[in-house]
Amino acid sequence: MKKRATTSTYIVRPPTAVLTRGFDPSLSVGSARPAVFRSSTYVFSSPESAERAFAIALGKRHPAEGESVDLIYSRLSHPNAEIVEDRLVPLEPGAQAAAVFNSGMAAISTVILALCRPGQTILYTEPLYGGTHHLLHQLLVPLGFKAVGVPAGDAPALAAAAQACEGLRLIFVETPANPTLRMSDIAGAVAVARAHRNHPVVVVDNTFLGPVFQHPIALGADLAVYSATKYLAGFSDMLGGVVLGPDPELISELRGTRAILGNILQPDECWLLDSRLATVTLRMNRQSKNAERIVNALKGHPKLRRLHYPSLFEDAEQKRIRDAQCSYPGGVFSLEIAGGKTAAFEFLRRIRIARNAVSLGGMESLACHPATTTHSEMSPEQLAHAGVTDELVRISVGVEDWRDLLRDFKEALDAV
Ligand SMILES: *Cc1c(COP(=O)(O)O)cnc(C)c1O
Repeated sequence: MKKRATTSTYIVRPPTAVLTRGFDPSLSVGSARPAVFRSSTYVFSSPESAERAFAIALGKRHPAEGESVDLIYSRLSHPNAEIVEDRLVPLEPGAQAAAVFNSGMAAISTVILALCRPGQTILYTEPLYGGTHHLLHQLLVPLGFKAVGVPAGDAPALAAAAQACEGLRLIFVETPANPTLRMSDIAGAVAVARAHRNHPVVVVDNTFLGPVFQHPIALGADLAVYSATKYLAGFSDMLGGVVLGPDPELISELRGTRAILGNILQPDECWLLDSRLATVTLRMNRQSKNAERIVNALKGHPKLRRLHYPSLFEDAEQKRIRDAQCSYPGGVFSLEIAGGKTAAFEFLRRIRIARNAVSLGGMESLACHPATTTHSEMSPEQLAHAGVTDELVRISVGVEDWRDLLRDFKEALDAV
């Protein structure tokens, strides 16, 4: 690592740290915002420094405290990655290091490939994000990895499956689950891992409620992974992935695998992501408040069979998990519209503010029909098991005025 400001001696709170850490204007000719360093390669200060940089990059040597190590080549790291990684850390309480990737899937696949070997087992909560499910079952299982799913929110099933697993290496928790928002107990999964003979690593996909409303590292998880494409970047205009953890050695190992796979986040994207971090708390607070107001006003609408949203949980265990690990319900909700797929499609055709698109977490509201899009790889049985009905529409609430969104949704529902 070369040339970065150190603010480590002066402790500040996260919203301040995210604006002050990791960037020294004097290294960007005094510019108040970081420059974008697009160079693919870096000039060494001496042949000895080059030798030292390679020894450290290959893990043969460890950098001394405060040592400035020459950069090598941008597939390994580059100044914009270092800046945004430093600034991400304070957003995840308990994290000590971060690594950025060119998508959420790049982050997830790198974590699994870095930590697991064929023959070992990955235990995961179901349903999983479609891409993650595909990665496990279409790519890794045929290569000899084992993948075992347990229903989201079922702590006894997770504990029993962990006991029964041979070679358990990783517990992957995605909470809340998409699109029903069913929650899994992070601290419970950590307790299962700590008591297990194989000491598996606990990885939490924190895309839906993090980094603002849910803090997996503080609950004991080893890694928090993100599709930064969603709330972290927040404008539906870039792809990115982030992994954070309390152990810098583990993050360093991921960076090593990243260098081989070649999936580091590019300098321009790092700069964009960096510019979004200071507003993620503001945006998510507004999006959650909007969603909560809309859900409360839609409750009881005669065309609605069901609303899925954390503040509406009725199951005692789901409420317990929610209250133990989430501070606010977030900006995503799902509605089930009486009338099946036809009614759901009609609703999507009629909405005028929210757009019919997959993805979530952007400034603009988006709506989609999971059964025929994001979850269409699942069998009818798997869909039924995951609670993804034909009449379910998922909505990611943006930062528009909630009253306009509510009117839009109400008018569309009335007309269905
Ligand atoms: C979008 C998403 C991903 C994948 O992220 P990409 O940036 O699209 O690769 C993984 N997990 C969850 C929960 C997501 O919503």
